[in-house]
Amino acid sequence: PVLLEVRGLCASVNGIDILKGLDFTVRRGEVHAIMGPNGSGKSTFAKVLAGHTAYQVTAGSVQFEGQDLLTLAPEARALAGVFLGFQYPIEIPGVANSQFLRLSYNTLQAQRGQEELDPLEFDDHVREKMKLLEMSPDFLDRSVNEGFSGGEKKRNEILQMALLEPRLAILDETDSGLDIDALRIVSQGVNQLSNPDNAVILVTHYQRLLNYIVPDYVHVMEAGRIVKTGGKELALDLEARGYDWVSADHEAAS
Ligand code: ADP
Ligand code: MG
Ligand code: MG
Repeated sequence: PVLLEVRGLCASVNGIDILKGLDFTVRRGEVHAIMGPNGSGKSTFAKVLAGHTAYQVTAGSVQFEGQDLLTLAPEARALAGVFLGFQYPIEIPGVANSQFLRLSYNTLQAQRGQEELDPLEFDDHVREKMKLLEMSPDFLDRSVNEGFSGGEKKRNEILQMALLEPRLAILDETDSGLDIDALRIVSQGVNQLSNPDNAVILVTHYQRLLNYIVPDYVHVMEAGRIVKTGGKELALDLEARGYDWVSADHEAAS
């Protein structure tokens, strides 16, 4: 069944058109990778899905589980099961990570009309998730993201995702510092968490990441549109040949 249906999506920021008629379909159980040159609009697409207020949708539609996602406030999107990983996670000195994670978990639970967990119950719950992700419990006592390495921030993002159990996770792996450790964490997290009920959109220009996460589909975005879609082997073609041949093919075909 279809989870996300994007049709003719156009969006702008500061009056500049970035997304120019984007079509995209995600079914339950699928992992999609979006690749493409710098500045093609990958991060913009992720932010528009999450409801980032700096971006204006000027045309098109986004249905999530049959609901019009674009009319929902960002919090309501999270409640509906959409999770956007943070590219640059905030630091909150003086707030223990366990507190922060429990707050975000309980906020969502309360909105869903489900049971909130007290600190002890949450501790059990989060430790179980951490075991699954092979994370050290030390992590819970530290201040949120303060002095975290790139890999540790990634770990925290993946842990948050594991706790919130989104129906659709959108992970935007930006140009900055995905070292081997971070690659491993992201891939381990995605592989652990993806199941037949949920789906993942992984924005990346690291072909390497796709050695660890095997996507069902690889898409190439260029100038605000999806110009090519293929299977996992497309990532290898892109690695070997770059992006130029994709746009040449696309232009010849249109
Ligand atoms: P990608 O993630 O594929 O590298 P982005 O979505 O970050 O691309 O950016 C797409 C284009 O939109 C780029 O040309 C970028 O400069 C522009 N852009 C993104 N955010 C803003 C902004 N806040 N103001 C102006 N231009 C922006
Ligand atoms: Mg970029
Ligand atoms: Mg980007």
